[in-house]
Amino acid sequence: MKTKLTEIFRHYNSYYNLGYSLNISERNIGLSGGLHYNFKKLIEIGYKQVVEKYKESLNFQERTKGINIEDIPTFTLLHELGHALMCSANPVMFYKQYQAWKVTHRNNPLEISADEFAKQEIIKWK
Ligand SMILES: [Zn+2]
Repeated sequence: MKTKLTEIFRHYNSYYNLGYSLNISERNIGLSGGLHYNFKKLIEIGYKQVVEKYKESLNFQERTKGINIEDIPTFTLLHELGHALMCSANPVMFYKQYQAWKVTHRNNPLEISADEFAKQEIIKWK
């Protein structure tokens, strides 16, 4: 799993010249196992943690309809890479929009488009 996630990360990081770092861990890291929305340019994935979160969260299952549970870590990484792309395009705008939507995470357009990016890209990594 770690090898596959690293390969996927490296592809997008170099293709889009993101300059990000990746931390993949079996352990629980961060709140959601996702991206740190700051200027660290770091994506952290707790790849077991995201599967646990998926099992417990109907909202997460709804968001990832049609995606197999074994692909959830890949989906999560691609989702975070989607955010990294948006953030690289316009960091100030990204953080402003993100802060504005923080409370109502579920309908956040930044989350919806990161999900769309992940769904569009995941078929390339089967
Ligand atoms: Zn997100």
